[in-house]
Amino acid sequence: MDFAYSEKSLDLQRRVRDFMDAHVIPRHAQFKEEEARGTFEISFMDDLKALAKEEGLWNMFLPGLGADEPGVGLSVLDYAPLAEIMGRLMWASEVFNCSAPDTGNMEILHMFGTPEQKETWLKPLLNGEIRSAFSMTEPDSASSDATNIATVMRREGDEYVINGRKWFSTGAASPRCKLSIVMGKTDPDNPDRHRQQSMILVPLDAPGVKIVRNTPVMNHVDYESHCEIAFENVRVPVSNLLGEEGSGFAIAQARLGPGRIHHCMRSIGQAELAHQMMVERSLERKTFGRYLHEHGMMQEKIARNRMEIDQARLLVLKAAWLIDQFGVKAARTEVSMIKVVVPEMQQRVVDRAMQTFGGMGVTPDTPLPNLWTMARSLRLADGPDEVHMRTLARMEVRKAQKGAMDTHRFMTLPDRANERDMREGREGWSPAKR
Ligand SMILES: Cc1cc2nc3c(=O)[nH]c(=O)nc-3n(C[C@H](O)[C@H](O)[C@H](O)COP(=O)(O)OP(=O)(O)OC[C@H]3O[C@@H](n4cnc5c(N)ncnc54)[C@H](O)[C@@H]3O)c2cc1C
Repeated sequence: MDFAYSEKSLDLQRRVRDFMDAHVIPRHAQFKEEEARGTFEISFMDDLKALAKEEGLWNMFLPGLGADEPGVGLSVLDYAPLAEIMGRLMWASEVFNCSAPDTGNMEILHMFGTPEQKETWLKPLLNGEIRSAFSMTEPDSASSDATNIATVMRREGDEYVINGRKWFSTGAASPRCKLSIVMGKTDPDNPDRHRQQSMILVPLDAPGVKIVRNTPVMNHVDYESHCEIAFENVRVPVSNLLGEEGSGFAIAQARLGPGRIHHCMRSIGQAELAHQMMVERSLERKTFGRYLHEHGMMQEKIARNRMEIDQARLLVLKAAWLIDQFGVKAARTEVSMIKVVVPEMQQRVVDRAMQTFGGMGVTPDTPLPNLWTMARSLRLADGPDEVHMRTLARMEVRKAQKGAMDTHRFMTLPDRANERDMREGREGWSPAKR
């Protein structure tokens, strides 16, 4: 495995870091002031976006799209450090048109959209003119099992009629958010539980769409916004179906591979920020005649942070590398691993930083409460820890059942291909090949 970044990525890393220092970080105080007004509009966002676009720091998450589509064509591995740099500030990714949930939505529109859907929705999203939401989770269905989703999408002539209630549709409170990709059931009686769902593009100004509330997270409403939305007899043309009927579950899976890598890299950026603040604070404060960093217990915290952050980053890079080499499916176990490992790590690192700051650590005078909340939320968003561990455990058990437990060594390329054959039950797979 080779985690070396390309020259292109290294160059972009330098330029994104410089851009953050010159244009984004100096605006943070103003951002916080405007965010507190709760209008979900930031006065300088368009200016910063225009500047980032002009400098070619735009849509960097897109892995090698066609010549007619913007983006810089980086691999997932090459993009990972950029997501980490942007992720240090909650709102910075939007400046570069690299923020969730738009990135995942753009990916699935690119993969599954018709030419008309791309023209209407993908183009303005790629240009950063509009934003979008993704509505899967429902208050009345245990949504960590997506087959439970109950929103009804009934076909009537040339239209779908949508009825249901969603919540945690991130980003929907923004006046710029014009679209939600909604998951519901078009064929609830299909004996295959994974073919009952479809995804439909729903304009947020369609009659019957009502934003019921912007649900606070940890009792706090922020710029990201997580909305509860009622869909009451919402009618959209059948041409708004994304992909084919019954493919909603598969599209949801495709959406989450690179998306989880992006989330995890942003999370690592936030852990690095908390760690940096913690170590710098330990150089300034003295207790019992010593600087904090001179106390043994503090040194252990510093060392643990570094070990845990680096372990997590290496695992994310491995997952990114696997996606680049073999596709999302072959990286499934690693993507589940990082989705558990990284936010847990961030939570621990931020907790140590809070402790180091004493009382100040739990006040808004530091970003630590926000960083902690983001880590805590990420243990739920895009699937709770338990669901990912269930996937992992099932993979392990299946390996044992096939007499192939000895797979946890560093795999070579042929090993990995063999592993994929085993998972997909292909002919020719054999434990002896390992
Ligand atoms: C900040 C934030 C942003 C979000 N953004 C979005 C978004 O943009 N769009 C969207 O659609 N959703 C979004 N979500 C929702 C998120 O994806 C769901 O909350 C998550 O999938 C869990 O679904 P649920 O809340 O219905 O929990 P439930 O399905 O009711 O599960 C509750 C708990 O049960 C436990 N559990 C579940 N399965 C198992 C198991 N097999 N074994 C053991 N325990 C288990 C887990 O602890 C789980 O947390 C967001 C959530 C948060 C917090």
